[in-house]
Amino acid sequence: MRVPFLDLRVTDETERAELRSALEQVLVHGKIVLGPEVEELEKKIASFCGRSFAVGVNSGTDALFLSLKSLGISQGDEVITTALSFVATANAIALTGAVPVFADIRDDLNIDPESVRKLVTPKTKAILPVHYTGKVCRMHELQEIAKSHGLFLVEDASQAFGAAHRGAKAGSFGELACFSMNPMKIFAALGEAGMVVTDRKDLADRLLALRYNGLVNREECRDVSLNGRLDTLQAAFLLKRLDQFPEIVRRRREIASGYAQRLKGVVEIPQEREGEEDIYYTYTIRTPKRDALKAFLEQQGIETKIQHPFLMPQHPVYRGKTPGSFPKAEKLVQEVLCLPVHEKLTQSETAYVADQVVKFCKGGA
Ligand SMILES: *Cc1c(COP(=O)(O)O)cnc(C)c1O
Repeated sequence: MRVPFLDLRVTDETERAELRSALEQVLVHGKIVLGPEVEELEKKIASFCGRSFAVGVNSGTDALFLSLKSLGISQGDEVITTALSFVATANAIALTGAVPVFADIRDDLNIDPESVRKLVTPKTKAILPVHYTGKVCRMHELQEIAKSHGLFLVEDASQAFGAAHRGAKAGSFGELACFSMNPMKIFAALGEAGMVVTDRKDLADRLLALRYNGLVNREECRDVSLNGRLDTLQAAFLLKRLDQFPEIVRRRREIASGYAQRLKGVVEIPQEREGEEDIYYTYTIRTPKRDALKAFLEQQGIETKIQHPFLMPQHPVYRGKTPGSFPKAEKLVQEVLCLPVHEKLTQSETAYVADQVVKFCKGGA
């Protein structure tokens, strides 16, 4: 049996027809740049997250960079983030001129509020937690730290659209929250796409200018910025996909619970605290024998992924040049392995994956 990690083909004929009709709609109205679908998607995503405003942008990276810029973060500032994320999180900070400061993580791979507390300095302007793997961070603790030190809280919710803790959705906690809808994400466009949500009108207005060269009233440039507008076609595709989203998450949670039943006590598996609704962007297990397990699964036709093999501060561009402290992350990054969890997996495929992990770990391989 061959089990791919990801399958981006659109195999369902109904879905293909829906996507074709989205394209057709845009071809007919011809409002190609910032067409009506962009605003419709912004409204729907704001309401989905329980927010007042949403601003569509070109990518999750742009969402992060422009969010930090809208808060006035720049050279001389520090922003505390997690050590373990896709490097876009750190790049967004560094691109503003601020210094990324890397905090440690907990067993659930999310940022550790205790570590954040120790890294606050007079230069700290913001905390940028990442809801890693599709699990909401300890937001109440982070909100408390932000409040007591007068810091902004910006969520990198790129992996966590739809995840929740006690009914509060990812994207509902910070001054600003950022999403990526790139094709790898669960709520995915057919190309690059991103979104920022907020309750603050002043920030939403700033973002509208920042996403297109800092222009206000289409004429006046008031900020140095880039072109980071959300593409109308991608918005049209995303509107179609929003309807199927709950079913996709239901299926992923079902796969995750199937894995949990079989892998409990065999390897470290993702845990959900009371009230947590993870969306399983990745199903990340941990074992000290990670590399051997990965090689074994590959031989059995199972594609897995190490997400991510390096901590952000271990990339050459940041190594030895950025402050922080993350001993636990340094250990855990060598143990993480993502099993396939995409919604197209069949029951027999997930059973096969789990059985092979058990076989390896119980010494049968
Ligand atoms: C995907 C991702 C990003 C970047 O999003 P793009 O749309 O690819 O620019 C940023 N942060 C995290 C945590 C991500 O997973």
